[in-house]
Amino acid sequence: MENLILEIINGKQISKDEALILFDFEIDQLFLVSSKIRKKYKGNQAKVCSIINAKSGQCGENCKFCAQSVFNKTDVQSYPLISTKQIEDISTKALESVGCFGIVSSGNYLSDNEIEKLCEMFKKHKKVSHLSVSIGKISDKNLIKLKKAGIKKIHHNLETSENFYPNICSTHTYQERVDTIKRAKKIGFKICSGGIFGIGESLNDRINLAFTLKKLDPDSVPMNFFMHINGLPLCHLPVITPIEILKTIAIFRIILQSPDIMICGGREKQLRDLQSWIFQAGANGMMSGGYLTSGGRSIARDKQMIKDLELELDIDMRE
Ligand code: SF4
Repeated sequence: MENLILEIINGKQISKDEALILFDFEIDQLFLVSSKIRKKYKGNQAKVCSIINAKSGQCGENCKFCAQSVFNKTDVQSYPLISTKQIEDISTKALESVGCFGIVSSGNYLSDNEIEKLCEMFKKHKKVSHLSVSIGKISDKNLIKLKKAGIKKIHHNLETSENFYPNICSTHTYQERVDTIKRAKKIGFKICSGGIFGIGESLNDRINLAFTLKKLDPDSVPMNFFMHINGLPLCHLPVITPIEILKTIAIFRIILQSPDIMICGGREKQLRDLQSWIFQAGANGMMSGGYLTSGGRSIARDKQMIKDLELELDIDMRE
């Protein structure tokens, strides 16, 4: 076992079988490698991003982990796309303290009209290069409009492995998600794509997700951990433990090597006192200030954690 750790430290690119074996390692053995790889690519820097749920609920897709699907009987608040003025004000304020701000909407797509309105606002937005957009399926025509309006990054999660995906969503396919990412990349966007863990997937599914992401070569990989929100059909599943989360983060860093790894939904609830260990595990950032349908820690508190760890806050996520 120790040989594999030494080989990875010396630059070995691991296979899927070897990645699977890493789950049997002690957490401190994994930390030795994962923190070294993080430092190699990210130095001493830590990133913080934040999002707004610009259009909430009433989604016609049936993702079993999501409180916004009409198929799941949750009491999540529903509202149509908020005004572009609100998005502009909230994002401008947030970007005083975080490096990247994501505009997220529920549903599998936004209408041409909604995209048009957003683009008009983006063209005037002083910090448009710090914004990312997460709006599900999108045509090439609308991607080009967003690009011309100054948006540099598209967020679109793969969520899990291709094999497991039909178990959590049947209203659209995994291939559609992969195609959206490929089209956005071809048009010249930076890609933010990751997944959610603790939704009944096997360790093998996690490894397959990491290798699929590696092929797509995203700039940023958000990792979410399932939250047991009342009404979700996956609430019977066991809660993923903090050590298992940290091992998963470490193995993603070892496989993916260079992209940003951002720890997002479920961080506070599932990691509890072990939140600061995400950096040892190889993450170099986190989402802060709350999630799509649930609250989180304040940005000030997360920035204090970064300071206490003697990491430097990377506020400027522009290229
Ligand atoms: S994850 Fe997105 S597409 Fe799936 S139900 Fe939730 S809002 Fe809809």
